[in-house]
Amino acid sequence: MPGVRELAFIRSGHLAWRDRDAPTLSDPGDAIVRPFVAARCDGDTLPIHRPVSRLMQAGIAVGAVDPVVGCICGRVPFKGPFAIGHECVAQVLDVGSGVQNVRVGQTVVVPWAVSCGSCEPCRRGLTSKCATTTGRTLAAYGFGPASGPWGGMVADAVRVPFADHMLVPVPVGVPPLRVAAAGDNLADAWRSVVTPLRDRPGGSVLVIGGGAQSIGLYAAGLAVAHGAGVVHYVDDDPGRRRIAEAVGAHARPAQAGSRRGRTATRRYDVVVEASSRAAGLRRAIRSLASGGVCTAVGYYLATGTRVPVMRMYATDATLRVGVSHARAVLPDLLAFVARTGFPAERVTTLTAPWADAPSAYAARTTKLVLQRDPV
Ligand SMILES: [Zn+2]
Ligand SMILES: [Zn+2]
Repeated sequence: MPGVRELAFIRSGHLAWRDRDAPTLSDPGDAIVRPFVAARCDGDTLPIHRPVSRLMQAGIAVGAVDPVVGCICGRVPFKGPFAIGHECVAQVLDVGSGVQNVRVGQTVVVPWAVSCGSCEPCRRGLTSKCATTTGRTLAAYGFGPASGPWGGMVADAVRVPFADHMLVPVPVGVPPLRVAAAGDNLADAWRSVVTPLRDRPGGSVLVIGGGAQSIGLYAAGLAVAHGAGVVHYVDDDPGRRRIAEAVGAHARPAQAGSRRGRTATRRYDVVVEASSRAAGLRRAIRSLASGGVCTAVGYYLATGTRVPVMRMYATDATLRVGVSHARAVLPDLLAFVARTGFPAERVTTLTAPWADAPSAYAARTTKLVLQRDPV
């Protein structure tokens, strides 16, 4: 069988195509898919845009970075080369003899984390914590060998286990580019606003953006589309503020309306912390109204993040931290996009041809989407 080409992270600022053996059906429940739309997860920009590998390794050694980081992305975090990419829309090329719900030729979303669909955590909706597939911390595409042998999604062919459960068909009429990030960042935004707003209909929403760049924008748009009373988006980047306004939020620079981020002038029922900064997390929590919920979608690598717990006690606040369980929300998310035409593609700031992936994937832009024709 001929080999396949996959995008590999080599080192900070440098990616390249790499050849490897084509994946094969190794279990009757497997499928082989061909991604033709791939988006860059916000988290992927961390090792690409900053030479964090050595720093993080040193940080773990001296206790300044939580050692659990090593369980997710290796004892030497983000050590290249490894196959990168974990948001895609793909076409099914082949299915094993035990696959019943998925057909060859179908267009599907592949969730970023690998899950079985039938274990106890999966049945509870904690699909990214699947007991069957998860070794130490994660089983996922595109994070390197510490998260399993799954490879990246910017590849000619990808093996998907438990295909009947894992692969979620894109509804008829939904443009694949619209749901390019559904397998991770769009689903992450969904859990940060849609679920909390269900319990707080018409609630006010604050999104602190800039770190998890696309997640914050998807969250702002989804909050507007789900009837939030008001949606405020704060970010120092004018381009992202324009996108936030385009999806119906009120945008302002991060410093406006609060003195050095300490004095929140308004309280919100739902807050999304997408700055990936400890100061942003503290601001987010201080911005909560009584009974409010803050979902932190960023990374807080350093130990000693000072969370204002007494403030949380006083406001009866809930803080949600953790990976998104994309597979669990995908059916609702895709049905919503099909029903409403939610224009998630407005968050995309660069659409590049698939062949240009090595250079495009390193671009300093909010949301990159790679595209090629389906077969
Ligand atoms: Zn991701
Ligand atoms: Zn499972």
